[in-house]
Amino acid sequence: MLQSKYFIKTKKEASSDEVSVNAQFLTRGGFIDKEMAGVYSFLPLGLRVLRKIENIIREEINAIGGQELLMPALQPRELWEETQRWEEMDVLYRFQDQQKKWLALGPTHEEVLTDIIRKNINSYKDLPLYLFQIQTKFRDELRAKAGLLRGREFLMKDLYSFHESEEDRKNYYQKAIKAYKKIFKRCGLDVLVAEASGGAFSKEFSHEFQVQTPSGEDLVVFCPNGDFSKNKEITDLREGAKCPNCLAHLIDVKTIEVGNIFTLGTKFSEAMGANFLDKNGQKKPIVMGCYGIGISRIMGAVAEVNHDERGIIWPEEIAPFKTHLISITAKDKKTDQKVKNTTKKTYKELLDLDIEVLYDDRTEISAGAKFADSDLLGIPFRIVISEKTLAKNSVEIRKRGEEKAKLVKIKEIFRKLKI
Ligand code: ATP
Ligand code: MG
Repeated sequence: MLQSKYFIKTKKEASSDEVSVNAQFLTRGGFIDKEMAGVYSFLPLGLRVLRKIENIIREEINAIGGQELLMPALQPRELWEETQRWEEMDVLYRFQDQQKKWLALGPTHEEVLTDIIRKNINSYKDLPLYLFQIQTKFRDELRAKAGLLRGREFLMKDLYSFHESEEDRKNYYQKAIKAYKKIFKRCGLDVLVAEASGGAFSKEFSHEFQVQTPSGEDLVVFCPNGDFSKNKEITDLREGAKCPNCLAHLIDVKTIEVGNIFTLGTKFSEAMGANFLDKNGQKKPIVMGCYGIGISRIMGAVAEVNHDERGIIWPEEIAPFKTHLISITAKDKKTDQKVKNTTKKTYKELLDLDIEVLYDDRTEISAGAKFADSDLLGIPFRIVISEKTLAKNSVEIRKRGEEKAKLVKIKEIFRKLKI
């Protein structure tokens, strides 16, 4: 991709109403654009990151048997009344259409999917079933001030599982925990798996996947040995209390919840009449679980935990590009032409090897401004070609987040990028 033609407008300052680190860097880097509080556009560069996160999740959920579908955001009031959530859910966007019919904008999809299931599933032979979607959710959040961490419109992966028995659901729940751990690792996030209240659905704990950061809105009490963590909202365990597993002293940490998995049991299937006939021909409510991940929130969380004062440091698997190739204009025309030719050739070679590259081919921009932009964008490998490097038949490679750059012979670039 040629940077001169690509829609990236970096800014020196974020607007003063953006208080969170993620919104400041993501806006300054031209990844997102704020429309209003909690509502953002994903610009081309930001969409590349979002799609990569999405694809990691898709791969890992497919690997545990998930089948992808796409459900509507527009939902009729009647469905929500069946579970009493039309009244109960404070963040539900409700409005009337031209025919005065009440509708909701989906904040989650238990009702819609349970409706699909009751119309289509009758027998134990159809179970278990795992259905997921990657879709925009709407929630009327009061505190939408933390950039991508708390959107009023945001991207979520929601997976729902349907089982004959509680035992089968429990087994799948463990598989989902493993898949979630893989997902967050691939996204470059260290997570704590914290026990939390099961909410209105269940007496059993739910599990939250929490990322530690001072900017987090959640508070988790956890054991430094890694064998216990719990959301503070449900526990009266205090900092300094003994870990129930290893007796070490517990500590409090601020966190961001990036994923949450729940036992639903038969709450929705009973309320909505989603039943199946078991092996003996007996009618039973389907046992359910649900499993959410905030895709856009992951993007914000990564920016919160992986940055320095100059910008974001993207983990490799979700970086918008793997390499940022920069040519530095030389004063002497002939030398400059040589720099340009070498950079173009390198660009072509990277493309031929399918290595994602953003090529800063802008001619009117100073080296300093190009480097500042490069740090702000946070692409993992920066490759600089200049008069100085060419004199040594080399390029300069720097890994984002490391101070020192290395001079590397041109023919060795590809080996250095670990390809
Ligand atoms: P929170 O406690 O942060 O409000 P929640 O518990 O209501 O979130 P869930 O219903 O469990 O959220 O949604 C599943 C996932 O969707 C969450 O783990 C989180 O990653 C993401 N998510 C929830 N609300 C938002 C939001 N307003 N903006 C961005 N992501 C969100
Ligand atoms: Mg939650």
